[in-house]
Amino acid sequence: MADFDVLIVGGGPAGTSLAWKLRDSDLSVAILDKATFPRDKVCAGWVTPAVLEELGIDPAAYAEGRTLQPIAGFRISQMGGREVETRYADIVSYGIRRCEFDDYLLRRSGAELLLGQKFQGMEQTDAGWRVNGTIGARLVVGAGGHFCPVARTLGARPGSGEIAVTAQEIEFEMTPEQLAECRAAGEIPELYFTRDLVGYGWVFRKGNFLNIGLGREDSPRLSEHVAEFVQYLQQRGRIPANIPGKFQGHAYLLYPRARRDLLRDQVLLIGDAAGLAYANSG
Ligand SMILES: Cc1cc2nc3c(=O)[nH]c(=O)nc-3n(C[C@H](O)[C@H](O)[C@H](O)COP(=O)(O)OP(=O)(O)OC[C@H]3O[C@@H](n4cnc5c(N)ncnc54)[C@H](O)[C@@H]3O)c2cc1C
Repeated sequence: MADFDVLIVGGGPAGTSLAWKLRDSDLSVAILDKATFPRDKVCAGWVTPAVLEELGIDPAAYAEGRTLQPIAGFRISQMGGREVETRYADIVSYGIRRCEFDDYLLRRSGAELLLGQKFQGMEQTDAGWRVNGTIGARLVVGAGGHFCPVARTLGARPGSGEIAVTAQEIEFEMTPEQLAECRAAGEIPELYFTRDLVGYGWVFRKGNFLNIGLGREDSPRLSEHVAEFVQYLQQRGRIPANIPGKFQGHAYLLYPRARRDLLRDQVLLIGDAAGLAYANSG
């Protein structure tokens, strides 16, 4: 049986950032994830310079062999309304691709990696917990995202009684024909607030990759809202006429609305598992 001081369930940014922060402690740290990496995550991939600084990431070094789209402004409107473009003198944000970013954070985390292993359950022991029947840990950290199975053991019930933002998104590499048609510019992401102001859509180009999505605080008819949004963008020539049809869905809790227990009996929740998304932007 393997024993660790800290077992982190989930190798997304929350779990890998914690492991990285603990890298110089004397604690033994492992990350368990059901996925093998690189893996993708439904996300627009917008990170601020403050995030990179906090994570000790040098933008120039990160950009070697990876997508790092500098952002110098925004194009903002309410759907159907006037569009306002704001440009700044400096870089105000970056666009990353989660398949690259998460893999980068995972590999440098310093933790022992237990990948391709789904969390099956945990039982209490004298020293802490035993996960999946064989992995001992003094502290179990739930970093498995919105549907984190560790959060469920603390009583969270994702999907029932929680007010979550639900979103659908697509990210794909454009063909030469799509590139020629696409009027969205990488350094100016586009944000479109819905007419009822219950959510917003975005068009975010990162080099040759295009990310389109829409999220709302109510989930009924989300697919219809997304289809209307795509049609709206295509009619205005912002995105190519032909895009892959399969949008992926996901959800997250906004911190002011999150009601999950975060710490109990040597179990801690972090990241989306804890419902820590920023209220204004997600
Ligand atoms: C459409 C959309 C757009 C977004 N855009 C942005 C954005 O532009 N910028 C931004 O900062 N945030 C954005 N977010 C939010 C952001 O994606 C999340 O806040 C972030 O991914 C949370 O990181 P995390 O590490 O907590 O969880 P995750 O990134 O979800 O990672 C969880 C990990 O846990 C693993 N896992 C899950 N279940 C199990 C299990 N049973 N066993 C083992 N492993 C498991 C998964 O494989 C995964 O690797 C967006 C979210 C959505 C839905």
